Amino acid sequence: NLISGVPRHVDGRMIAITKNAGAAIINEDRMWHYTEGVQNWDPIWPDHAIRILPGPSSLWFDAEGNRFPAPCLPGFDTLETLRHILASGYDYSWFILNQAIIEKEFALSGSEQNPDFTSGSWKVLLKSRLGKGAPPPVEAFKQHGADFVVRDNLDDLVAGMNELVDVKLDTAKLRAQVEARDAQMDNSFTKDAQVMAIRTARNYLGDKLIRTAKPHKILDPSKGPLIAVKLHVMTRKTLGGIHTNLDGEVLDAKGNTVSGLFSAGECAGFGGGGYHGYNALEGTFLGGCIFSGRNAGRKAG
Ligand SMILES: Cc1cc2nc3c(=O)[nH]c(=O)nc-3n(C[C@H](O)[C@H](O)[C@H](O)COP(=O)(O)OP(=O)(O)OC[C@H]3O[C@@H](n4cnc5c(N)ncnc54)[C@H](O)[C@@H]3O)c2cc1C
Repeated sequence: NLISGVPRHVDGRMIAITKNAGAAIINEDRMWHYTEGVQNWDPIWPDHAIRILPGPSSLWFDAEGNRFPAPCLPGFDTLETLRHILASGYDYSWFILNQAIIEKEFALSGSEQNPDFTSGSWKVLLKSRLGKGAPPPVEAFKQHGADFVVRDNLDDLVAGMNELVDVKLDTAKLRAQVEARDAQMDNSFTKDAQVMAIRTARNYLGDKLIRTAKPHKILDPSKGPLIAVKLHVMTRKTLGGIHTNLDGEVLDAKGNTVSGLFSAGECAGFGGGGYHGYNALEGTFLGGCIFSGRNAGRKAG
């Protein structure tokens, strides 16, 4: 089951319209999904999904409670994580974190979820991100979100998680993995890739200030309560679009250029297999848009 990261009117209808008008379409069968979708507790459209943009510290497990291996870490490699989720045989996964992590590391997609950023005021932004507690929209999800479980200890947390799913999780199995990760906090030369990533992220001042919680043990009660989030796969967009040559000239069904017609950016359908390849990382769309726009502009003179 997918939940929907876009309003209902974003339906890909233009692909068929464009094809009927005579342009060739490429990557029609490819879509971009995100792996950290949660159901909006205050939906604007049907099945409204909000994406968590996570910092690096939440522990990530499949539906049976197996911790994902690197590079399937929060905020790292969407497509590889999607492959692991699907290979698990289920369509959801779990984050386990705590209050200290949610306060610093959860950002939510959507302008209505980021009133501090959209306020245009540094004062409002810094107060929201550096002040005590999670930003109010994140706190609202924690309190009202159907996918959020908040408890004081791991036994109760897993009991709460099990109320949301048919595939029951085993507390002892989860505890062993969380404790193994926590033990690495005492190891300054750990080989736990996630702990290494947390330490590296904090070497950048911006991430240290507002994006990455100070390294700590997840089961440390002073950092609690514990939080679990059931994560759904959510839709974002088609990677299909108008087939062009590298100069941005639109091709027809026979591969001939349509004289004087150019396509650049997302509508050019490059995302599925063009500039960054089929295994593109998230956050790489804009580069392709700019590059294709530049090429088209140069060709058009
Ligand atoms: C929430 C969100 C987060 C993102 N984060 C990232 C990121 O971190 N990194 C990254 O690389 N990419 C990111 N992207 C993707 C990136 O923003 C897009 O790939 C890029 O902006 C697309 O640029 P574009 O010029 O192709 O299309 P757009 O920016 O969508 O521009 C299309 C323009 O056409 C206009 N238009 C539409 N119809 C008509 C019409 N009939 N007549 C005239 N004008 C019309 C629209 O108003 C719009 O201004 C994100 C996208 C979203 C939505």
